[in-house]
Amino acid sequence: MSKNTDFDLIVIGAGLGGSAITWALRNSNLRIAVLDRGGPLKQEAENWDPDEVLKKRRYDTTEVWYDEQDQPFTPRVYYNYGGSSKFFGGSAFRLRERDFISHRFPDGETIDWPITYNILSPYYDIAEKQMHVHGSAHADPSEPPRGKYPHSPLEHEKSIEWLSQRIEMQGLHPFALPSAVHQGDGGHCQKGSPCDGFPCKIRAKFDGENAFLRPALRENKTISMFPHTRVLQILHNSNGTRVTVVKAVNTQGEQISLSAGIVVLCAGAVQSAALLLASVSERYPHGLGNASDQVGRNFMSHNNTVLMALSPFRKNPTWFQKTMAFNDFYADGGNVQMRGKILHQNLERSGTFLMRKFSRFIAERSFDFWVMSEDLPDEQNRVELRDDGSIRLSRKLNNLKTHKQFVKQIKRILHKAGLPIIIERPPSPSAIQHQVGTLRMGDNPETSVVAPDGRTHELENLYVADASIFPSSAAVNPSLTIAANALRVADSILKTYSKS
Ligand SMILES: Cc1cc2nc3c(=O)[nH]c(=O)nc-3n(C[C@H](O)[C@H](O)[C@H](O)COP(=O)(O)OP(=O)(O)OC[C@H]3O[C@@H](n4cnc5c(N)ncnc54)[C@H](O)[C@@H]3O)c2cc1C
Repeated sequence: MSKNTDFDLIVIGAGLGGSAITWALRNSNLRIAVLDRGGPLKQEAENWDPDEVLKKRRYDTTEVWYDEQDQPFTPRVYYNYGGSSKFFGGSAFRLRERDFISHRFPDGETIDWPITYNILSPYYDIAEKQMHVHGSAHADPSEPPRGKYPHSPLEHEKSIEWLSQRIEMQGLHPFALPSAVHQGDGGHCQKGSPCDGFPCKIRAKFDGENAFLRPALRENKTISMFPHTRVLQILHNSNGTRVTVVKAVNTQGEQISLSAGIVVLCAGAVQSAALLLASVSERYPHGLGNASDQVGRNFMSHNNTVLMALSPFRKNPTWFQKTMAFNDFYADGGNVQMRGKILHQNLERSGTFLMRKFSRFIAERSFDFWVMSEDLPDEQNRVELRDDGSIRLSRKLNNLKTHKQFVKQIKRILHKAGLPIIIERPPSPSAIQHQVGTLRMGDNPETSVVAPDGRTHELENLYVADASIFPSSAAVNPSLTIAANALRVADSILKTYSKS
């Protein structure tokens, strides 16, 4: 049966942003098509098999990108419904009020967002509800104004409770990490399964697909899904003011052309920029909507250090470790949160010789932390296309003075807490799990790509609703903000198009 090819609205990418905007528009009467280069990820035993996921990289892309030295690498991105959020750890933080306002670090400064926390706050409420976020309001000293969380906080297992008390004894304020993993309150998470970095076999993690896409498809049976369909180019009308057609190819090699009144780009920070850069025409020789030469620039992905802190005399038998965070040093350093429990397979795959040799000893004892600071927008950190169409991602880490100082501070705290040995994995340019930037949202068309309402400055019916719009990276995980912003962009689309 041939599918319809004419739609009111096309969403490119069924990851977190794409799923959230599809859900928000499910009752709009718009004829919606959603295209993704992946499809629904199979629920299977291998979802939770560390050998399959960590060692054999069963679900990873095999695509090759290049760094600024033209050295090839395989990026850690996921092409399936839910996008990277299918593998996320479930941390669901709101940005802080100060994250929306330019602030200075010793190595440079961030820039203002064109919106404030207050504008995003009602959308955070909806996103938290839909993502079943668990948490404890008013326990985090850096928290922005907010009401109660939809669900009560995740409980610490015994060893994490012990650690939390040892951190609190130092005058700090550890709190229950806001989490989109459904435990307690009738939640069906089986705590013994791996989570951070793994897909959830029983859908107890509210990634983009589970929180937004599936509910949208349940409620609106007319949404047309195009799985395994990779968008290659977006075409525009004769005077270059509106996009008209989305050209794609499916896994059978069939070329597909779909037309739409509105296109929403949600392919993730790197791929959304790459798609605009690939959409060249006489009117836009440097890429669609790129007269300002801003498309692809200001890539960010946080400075993340993993700390494995341990005592030879204490085991850490925790199953579900990602329940605690502290933000006492948010303004000058960043966020500290537990990472999903490190398994011996993690160390066997990517550890040093000694880590590989003692992988089980270390994994049985380590308390694993994710220490995260802001990285700064830099025009030279950017996505470009090479001559053969492949992606070049140039990234030089920045704001490292702040990060290094922060990591030192955290190591002192962990030593004092009774964990004398600390193994450190420093930030790496290829760690792009938190990719943001590349199509910056702003008021000024000369320095940004997307206007505050989510619409590109140059094309009146092309919107962006994924991680690429972030003007700065802040120092908390991006997902909840991506979802909240996508819901806000949906409202802006509805307001504009209800008139026409
Ligand atoms: C291991 C891991 C752990 C993480 N943990 C957390 C966490 O705990 N908390 C948190 O907030 N964030 C976390 N993140 C980050 C989070 O998953 C991402 O920030 C989020 O998914 C980005 O949303 P997005 O919509 O921008 O892109 P994605 O969710 O990646 O979606 C992009 C979609 O576009 C599709 N696509 C790409 N190119 C094309 C094309 N040309 N045509 C058609 N479709 C295309 C992809 O298949 C994908 O489905 C984690 C990420 C990883 C990898």
